[in-house]
Amino acid sequence: MRITGIRERTVPISRHADPALPSGGLTTSIVALITDVVRDGRPVVGFGFSSIGRFGQGGLLAERFIPRLQEAAPEDLLDDAGGNLDPWRVWSVLMQGEKSGGHGDRTVAVGTLDMAVWDAAAKIAGQPLHVLLDERLQRDPPADGRVKLYAGGGYYYPHDDRRHLAEEVRRFLDLGYTHVKIKIGGASLDEDLRRIETVLALLPGGDHLAVDAMNTYDRAACLTAVDALAPFGLRWFEDICPPLDFETLAAAAQAYPSPIAAGEPLFSLDEARLLARHGGLRPERDILLFDPTHCYGLTHFLRIVEHMTACGWPRSAFWPHGGHLFTLHVVHALGLGGSEVNPFCFQPFGGLADDAELTDGTAAPPTAPGIGFETRAGLRDLFETLLDD
Ligand code: MG
Repeated sequence: MRITGIRERTVPISRHADPALPSGGLTTSIVALITDVVRDGRPVVGFGFSSIGRFGQGGLLAERFIPRLQEAAPEDLLDDAGGNLDPWRVWSVLMQGEKSGGHGDRTVAVGTLDMAVWDAAAKIAGQPLHVLLDERLQRDPPADGRVKLYAGGGYYYPHDDRRHLAEEVRRFLDLGYTHVKIKIGGASLDEDLRRIETVLALLPGGDHLAVDAMNTYDRAACLTAVDALAPFGLRWFEDICPPLDFETLAAAAQAYPSPIAAGEPLFSLDEARLLARHGGLRPERDILLFDPTHCYGLTHFLRIVEHMTACGWPRSAFWPHGGHLFTLHVVHALGLGGSEVNPFCFQPFGGLADDAELTDGTAAPPTAPGIGFETRAGLRDLFETLLDD
């Protein structure tokens, strides 16, 4: 088999269900990896995107990583039988000539292509991605086949914020989600406490709500916030200080009795090692958010999971960032704690399959071959525009 074409485009992506609301000009990259393998009368195409929250990677993809794949000898990308892509070999080709360290945005660019490679490999194998991963990683699937979920969203609204926030959370609950995450750190602490109280009024308890300060607090603000939030007994408190300020993170962990979630803005095994060594977190209690796509893709994320578990972290501590189907497969296959889902924001990427059924706040990944992006009509239509001539 051969890769016959790779296409990419940068597209806008919104933090709100209504894309007319301001969203900071956020973008993501979409890619299509076209192969000469034919299934159901059509060439197999692997789709990927740059996950959520970082920007499009068009420059790095077009200048460096796509040419590297296109110029590779086909046998350097394939499994021993030569019939399918080997994502680990593809990853080695993508990283050829890259120096150690200085990870930067290349982690996201490589992760974008890695996602498309896994999608193509699973489609060629005729399996949902999680089943392919069960085989390749020799892991048993969860007994009930389902993944614990939480609905992520709750960004600030420019007008009438708390009323809109409550409405959004009610819609999460109406869909069957039992746990939610909202943003804080973008307003005064008093106002954020009112946001939290607004949402808690709709939930059975503090342990159904996580809050994400998006790394906006400096040390003083972080330590003030942990004192203010402690009485709520929240599910977790996420991104509580600057990502590499492990001293503040450790001080907060000393002071805060409920779970702290960290790792979303750390994109490499190097940084994961620093978090494990210096972050002062509590493996029996705290939460790890590494985003497989932002961490050089699933291929590298597996090494992070391996390292953190060797440092005493249970797999149940991993709740990867990225509320989309790729994350759902990864959590299912690796036996991680659970998955974020973005039912309303970051469309058409966020959310489950259009016909997915939630039971007690859990869901199963799509059964279609690959990641199953095609089970979301809006997302399928967007990806297929890459195939237009
Ligand atoms: Mg976050």
